Amino acid sequence: MDAPSGIRPNTAQSPCTREPSVKVPFYRHSLSPADAGPIAEVLASPFLTSGRVGERVEGMLTDYFGVRHAALVNSWTNGAVAALPALGIGAGDEVIVPAMTFIATANVVELVGATPVFSDVDESTLLLTPAGVATSITSRTRAVIPVHLYGQMADVRGIRAALGSRNVAIVEDAAHAFESVRDGSRPGAHSDAAIFSFYATKNVTCGEGGALVTNRDDLHEAFLQTRLHGMTASAADRFTSVGYRHWDMVRLGTKANLPDVLAALLPSQIHTVAERLDRRAALAARYEAGLRGAEIRWPSLVLSSTHARHLFPVHVAPQHRDTVLARLHAAGIGVTVNYRAVPTLEYYRARNAAAQRDCPISTSWGDGTLSLPLYPSLTHTEQDYVLERLLASLDGLDRDVGSAA
Ligand SMILES: *Cc1c(COP(=O)(O)O)cnc(C)c1O
Repeated sequence: MDAPSGIRPNTAQSPCTREPSVKVPFYRHSLSPADAGPIAEVLASPFLTSGRVGERVEGMLTDYFGVRHAALVNSWTNGAVAALPALGIGAGDEVIVPAMTFIATANVVELVGATPVFSDVDESTLLLTPAGVATSITSRTRAVIPVHLYGQMADVRGIRAALGSRNVAIVEDAAHAFESVRDGSRPGAHSDAAIFSFYATKNVTCGEGGALVTNRDDLHEAFLQTRLHGMTASAADRFTSVGYRHWDMVRLGTKANLPDVLAALLPSQIHTVAERLDRRAALAARYEAGLRGAEIRWPSLVLSSTHARHLFPVHVAPQHRDTVLARLHAAGIGVTVNYRAVPTLEYYRARNAAAQRDCPISTSWGDGTLSLPLYPSLTHTEQDYVLERLLASLDGLDRDVGSAA
């Protein structure tokens, strides 16, 4: 079956799909030249960077997430680098992060001079847990960054309860979780802030971008400054019809604002995100049906939640993972690894050798995981080929699941 007509495959050939050997790319975005209209409108206006288009998108985001404030940023990473100082977090502070995540979650903590403290994740969901947070708390803990890994939300309310009355902020890494819901709440509902990514492969994208949402008026105000050099007025506000207004700099900030040229790609995707999620969910269910009974496992579902189905990772015996990767690659199938555990990477190993030993679940998952293609324009024919090749790639490998949990 082909993708529903509402979901346009992007037919432009990326450098890797031009390779004759690629049969199923790891990722195809859903944008096309037909989506360029709003960018042309920005180009026809005198204002290219953060202005009225971005403000309109921020309004759509506050409605969608049911929060008081939304602020667009030019990446999740820069958004977090602006958010942590806005929360007063810096040198000498500790921030608890899961060991199973993309490196950016830990890197932003290092970049602001604080120390990431790795907590192991739940064996079945791969999510940071309230109990894991509780055992990682010290007198220097100032924030926790739960990651809604692959599209399933961590238990933010439970983490808040585990923190008790301590003055510890929660900043959700919602890079995979635009559509996610847990117990009736979307990201941002029970934390100090949630940050999204609109990077090229994310479920909602403008190439590079992101957004921070928060219910805290004081944090929003501080963040508008740390997002833009620490200045008290944005470019749109400095050049008004009334004339030039002086600005001041009241704190140190970075440059994390999203230009209207990119923000213009977001409204149509926010309107149609549910349709693309239906498609992702149906494809994920087909993968699960096709893999049942094989020597393969995948994260279990969190009850009473909506999974954003950002990625479809599976886990094979760690001693066979790279063989399976190579066999799928040879069959023209794009596969990636999301993720090797962060404490096992050279930079973090050198800084804290013990963290890897303290996070055996993350390490074992990271040693055996690989992600299959999952995007709205993936056809059933393509998916059946992936399933067939994946199962065939396990042929002849011993069935010992090794250190797989
Ligand atoms: C993509 C991603 C990020 C970083 O997002 P950017 O917008 O590329 O900075 C952070 N955390 C997770 C879990 C991600 O997948």
